[in-house]
Amino acid sequence: MAAPNHHARAILDRILRQRTAAEAFADFKPRRGDEEPLPPRLSGTNDYSAAAVDERRQLLAAAGISTAQLAGEQDEIAPSALAGNIENFIGFARLPIGVIGPLRVNGIYAHGDFYVPMATSEGALVASYHRGAYLISQCGGATVACLTESVSRAPCFVFDSLIESGQFLAWVLPRFEQLQQVVAQTTRHGRLIDLKVSVLGKEVYLILEFHTGDAAGQNMVTLSTDAVVATILAECPQQPQHWFLDGNLSGDKKATAAAFTTARGKKVVGEAVIDRKMVRRFLHTEPEQMVRYWQISVLGGVQSGSIGVQGHYANAVAALFIACGQDAACVAEAAVGVTRMDVTAAGDLYTSVSMPNMIVGTVGGGTRLPTAQECLAMVDCVGDGKAAKFAEICCATVLAGEISIIGAMSAGDFGQAHAKYGRRTQKPEA
Ligand code: NAP
Repeated sequence: MAAPNHHARAILDRILRQRTAAEAFADFKPRRGDEEPLPPRLSGTNDYSAAAVDERRQLLAAAGISTAQLAGEQDEIAPSALAGNIENFIGFARLPIGVIGPLRVNGIYAHGDFYVPMATSEGALVASYHRGAYLISQCGGATVACLTESVSRAPCFVFDSLIESGQFLAWVLPRFEQLQQVVAQTTRHGRLIDLKVSVLGKEVYLILEFHTGDAAGQNMVTLSTDAVVATILAECPQQPQHWFLDGNLSGDKKATAAAFTTARGKKVVGEAVIDRKMVRRFLHTEPEQMVRYWQISVLGGVQSGSIGVQGHYANAVAALFIACGQDAACVAEAAVGVTRMDVTAAGDLYTSVSMPNMIVGTVGGGTRLPTAQECLAMVDCVGDGKAAKFAEICCATVLAGEISIIGAMSAGDFGQAHAKYGRRTQKPEA
């Protein structure tokens, strides 16, 4: 998960934004409720009455958040508006959406208190994230930072020999700036930022790294790579026997060791310190016991061969992606990372999450669908200039889930929570 020096410097410049380090880093400090009151908390997690649903919608409305699309109060979407998102259209899969919060976030781009929508059919999931969000927010919020941003495509060129591979690279590598110009003609917001090379004898993989603005960028990098390959094929004297637009080295929709060590989409990190008294009161355990369980879970992860070690990132990522119009299949790479727990010198719980592959966008793809627009609006993440903010809110949500699940495992509450929230109680047939 290391960033090259020039990337790290660019990130630091972004954080400082012509401010002193002291001013810039003050933004990340926890903000306790007694200094800066939190907005009202959503209540009645397992109250399904019309009055309770209405109360939640009213609370959101008072915060300026519309739920009209989610509540089905708008007209049906015209099928023609779905071109680019679906083929052979017949209707919609309707999944319930719950909301957690407020979740206090202290980030580079996301700075505020958020009600976060989550789409799932797994009972207990929203309740668990809501609990984690409460603990984080009561203790000053999650400090988060969106760091490196890049999305890759890796075309592969097949030659007859290693010598031909070398002659091909001798032509391509000095032409990086020319290829950047080619990309600039295919997209206004996408930029080719790096070109890495992997040579396997007579095969050459070019790993093209792009910055994709506020789009998740999978289409953008595909179309740009197509143009780059066309230019190479038209101009390079060393012609390949075959070429493929992607040699499956980009990590698209896969949890890969390569993406884990670099970044795919946005790399986001987050941390929070939870007071010992809050751990006791709301998680019914102790920070030491949570760290103990975290250690056990790391050892379990090592035995299972997991890439990174974490509790259940996929739960938050899938629920956020479905609600907010992201490509749900990209949960494969986005739900990878490292969770860390420790006890502070003051005896409180320190916890962090690091996610190198948060591939999200606030324009393009499924974000234009009406319910996705409404969910993105709920966290003020619609459109231009909001993708890094959205990635930071996703990261804080993931952190809430890690605190809650590790708390439940340490306290021995995990089974009970699922029995309470995750099962519909049915009377046996007479
Ligand atoms: P997209 O909707 O294909 O492209 C993003 C569009 O938004 C571009 O037309 C871009 O214009 C425009 N745009 C406007 N403002 C922007 C801003 N501030 N930042 C960035 N772009 C801006 O979406 P995508 O993110 O590239 O691709 C996501 C879709 O690709 C998803 O539906 C996903 O399911 C699908 N997908 C495709 C592949 C593939 O291999 N093709 C693989 C996986 C997923 P400019 O380009 O002119 O800047």
